[in-house]
Amino acid sequence: MSTPASPPDRATLLASLRDYVEQIREEGLEGLEGDASRDGVAASRTAARTPAKAAASPAGANVSRSGAASAQPAAPPAPSAGGTGTVPAGAPARTAGAGLLPTNTAYLYPELEKTADLAALREFIGECTRCKLAPKRTNLVYGAGNPKAELMFVGEAPGADEDLRGEPFVGRAGQLLTDIIERGMGMTRAEVYICNVIKCRPPENRNPEADEVAACEPFLFRQIDLVRPRVIVGLGTFAVQAVLKLKTPISKLRGNWHEVRGIKMMPTFHPAYLLRNPSEKRVVWADIQEVMKELGRPIPQRGGRG
Ligand code: URA
Repeated sequence: MSTPASPPDRATLLASLRDYVEQIREEGLEGLEGDASRDGVAASRTAARTPAKAAASPAGANVSRSGAASAQPAAPPAPSAGGTGTVPAGAPARTAGAGLLPTNTAYLYPELEKTADLAALREFIGECTRCKLAPKRTNLVYGAGNPKAELMFVGEAPGADEDLRGEPFVGRAGQLLTDIIERGMGMTRAEVYICNVIKCRPPENRNPEADEVAACEPFLFRQIDLVRPRVIVGLGTFAVQAVLKLKTPISKLRGNWHEVRGIKMMPTFHPAYLLRNPSEKRVVWADIQEVMKELGRPIPQRGGRG
């Protein structure tokens, strides 16, 4: 007679429960099909975060930094200015959904398309009070890097360090992104362009809400139009799903070429996720190698280690 398997200890049970909850936060229930532990996608902004609330907040009450209610119109339900599709490596980019979705950024802010460069766009955004994140931020985090970059990284939203400094990806996750760029790709931060879908820090690093995305994403799409990089790397579930207007888990999107506004996009895991799951660096390294091939750049010997 076989001996019954001993029950898992409390710590193991708690750890699996934590992984499970984290994965639901990151991917929704869809992400749990198949072998969830192998998909291994967890929250990019994690611990401090509360579960995502779909468009939970009233979109109407915009509040300025001083706390006064603003007369600015509420953001509409998010129409996509993105345009998305899966593009095989080497294939020309195509825009799935063209004709169904607006292809310009003017649906919400008609003057946006007149901004001629990144400086003009920054001026257009101004001391933004277009959504309810404004009163809580220290600094708006616009974007940084080469305005003519071949390569653009798009993350989710500023965290605490970014909020304090007004620069994207300068905290721990940012340090890892810098390593990926410098050691992994042999490039410098100044050569690439880095920004986020959302320009202001969500309180307690919670997930950005739908009205916040709707109010802010036209600025990202305008940044993309103005920089016109050859390749965009989408960092983490939130950024990738927001840009591509998909609900597919990042574990299924990463490693495949997609397209946004006529530009090839490679989704990959968020550096914050890699900090908690260092074994996934191998996978990100594979995605980065695809990017390097697409850009026709040599792959540094040391890349991908560690
Ligand atoms: N995470 C992001 O998605 N963006 C940042 O700028 C920093 C952390």
